[in-house]
Amino acid sequence: ATNFVIEGLKATIEGKEILKGINLEMKGGEIHAIMGPNGTGKSTLASALMGHPKYEVTDGTITLDGEDVLDMAVDERARAGLFLAMQYPSEIAGVTNSDFLRSAINARRGEGNEISLIKFIRQMEGKMKELDMNPEFAHRYLNEGFSGGEKKRNEILQMMLLDPKIVVLDEIDSGLDIDALKIVANGVNAMKSEDRGFLIITHYQRLLNYITPDYVHVMMQGRIVKSGGPELAHRLEAEGYDWVKAELGITD
Ligand code: ADP
Ligand code: MG
Ligand code: MG
Repeated sequence: ATNFVIEGLKATIEGKEILKGINLEMKGGEIHAIMGPNGTGKSTLASALMGHPKYEVTDGTITLDGEDVLDMAVDERARAGLFLAMQYPSEIAGVTNSDFLRSAINARRGEGNEISLIKFIRQMEGKMKELDMNPEFAHRYLNEGFSGGEKKRNEILQMMLLDPKIVVLDEIDSGLDIDALKIVANGVNAMKSEDRGFLIITHYQRLLNYITPDYVHVMMQGRIVKSGGPELAHRLEAEGYDWVKAELGITD
């Protein structure tokens, strides 16, 4: 079964330490949520996991099924089964969504094991239907002129087609209306499996009404300061973060 372990992870951006020792262990079949105030390093954690060049990991380890993730380049991480849906998906001029998806799938599958065009189109069209996406999105340039909701749905489409082991969703709920939120949540729930773990980063508990986490972690000032079950998310929604700060003696 999938086993993803983050130990003592520290990371800096432009010399400033943002992650100050993150510890987290996830297994296949589990859904973990990370919640926390703005600016605490949630997106930095997601980027560091994926190997974004802007973030320098200065200490700690990340392993996926015993393999050293920090030793892998970005594309190797994707091939190993890490997937990140970004808070702000970028536009790629001149590359259609379907071209992008097919090369991402083939990168994940590896050389000599490429998906046939027919099979790819069949899979893509099937998943787009599940996500209630207009078929024309396949032929549009990646994220260009997509609304916030369309971008998020498109990230979920990528996740479905790439069949990753560890899925990191960074604020996939931001900017979604309730119908789009349900579609995204259904997509995630349909992808739940014993071989796949989810790390869901969210500012609001709303998404967690539709995707029930097994564990909820609170991140503050670059650390996971508290962990619990789904009830923790409800308490944060009702009471905010001040009580956690008070409990831990954090002042800012
Ligand atoms: P969160 O996702 O929890 O809102 P971020 O990881 O985006 O937090 O940001 C954590 C901290 O790192 C913030 O203080 C932010 O200003 C800083 N930061 C994030 N990205 C950059 C960057 N590219 N350059 C400089 N500082 C950054
Ligand atoms: Mg933020
Ligand atoms: Mg963020």
